[in-house]
Amino acid sequence: MAEERNDPRIPETAAEQADFLAAMESVFAEQESRGALDQPPPVGRDIFQDESDRLFIGREFTLEQFRKWFAVQRLGTQPFNAVGFHHTEVPDHTIWAGMPSLRGVFNYYRDELDWPEGLGPQLWVYSGDGRYSAGSPRIYVGTHPAHDGVGISGRNRRWLHIEHIWNGDKLAFSDAMIKVSGAVLSIVCQRHQFADREIPMKFLRDTGIDNPSQPIGIMYHRDQNPVWPGDGGWPKSCPGTKVKHDSLDSALVAAASGAVAGSGPSTSAFALGQRLVVASGPLNMRSAPGLAFAILAELDAGVALTVLEGPASAEGFAWYRVSGPEGGPGWVAGEFLTVSS
Ligand SMILES: [Zn+2]
Repeated sequence: MAEERNDPRIPETAAEQADFLAAMESVFAEQESRGALDQPPPVGRDIFQDESDRLFIGREFTLEQFRKWFAVQRLGTQPFNAVGFHHTEVPDHTIWAGMPSLRGVFNYYRDELDWPEGLGPQLWVYSGDGRYSAGSPRIYVGTHPAHDGVGISGRNRRWLHIEHIWNGDKLAFSDAMIKVSGAVLSIVCQRHQFADREIPMKFLRDTGIDNPSQPIGIMYHRDQNPVWPGDGGWPKSCPGTKVKHDSLDSALVAAASGAVAGSGPSTSAFALGQRLVVASGPLNMRSAPGLAFAILAELDAGVALTVLEGPASAEGFAWYRVSGPEGGPGWVAGEFLTVSS
């Protein structure tokens, strides 16, 4: 397990380094010339396992795959309670090349900034507005959300940092970026089987509050500097001079609520009396359908269950009441079950 960090010596972001632009431009020009843009997404079969013991994940997901991966991740003994909202400068969406780009960024952090291997912002959002995977948004996990990442000086302890692959200094977020960003916010701010709290969908300026035990809200990186953009002010502008509170906040909240409403159960229904097994564990068995209800048992992968009732839809999952080996009967999310062979 990585130690939790709140090191004032760590720079706010790589983009503050004078040589960042030149270095990243050369990294991505080289990747483009090698044809990295044509590589298929390296999505494995085991994407829904808990991976919270690892600091660096390095995976590319569709939004739906990310939702399912995130749902089974342990989030540490003290789950993140705040979100730092960022955009990149380089690479932006026009040169993003998928996993090679993510690796390039983290290699840059390690080699040029001397950050520990695998440490950086946790989530990376690509809207599908560039040539890579055109029209299909992708979500990347860098540092695992169970661990402190790096995003804003003094705001790294139990914060989740979301980097948007978009130069918000040059261009307002596209509709596609607003939609996918809102959907990601709705996923990470909701109750979770390993984080029994909600993070308010509120975009805060610098409140000075930094209490890891208190759900706080979402903060643009820019708002950490009260004098921005005055003369001699901080040269960082996440989420950018082209994207502002008065337009972006409400658009993101609307996109997030739309994403919740649209995230119905995605599994085919199981029948009463059907025999199932846990496909991805540990899976929480709860007293009622919903992530806020008491945990009766933690079921390992392979545990056999029989459907007694359901499905009931709550928080984007299809819940089934099942008989189980211990602590049950109780309710489990059908997304993590499969038919017994
Ligand atoms: Zn930032």
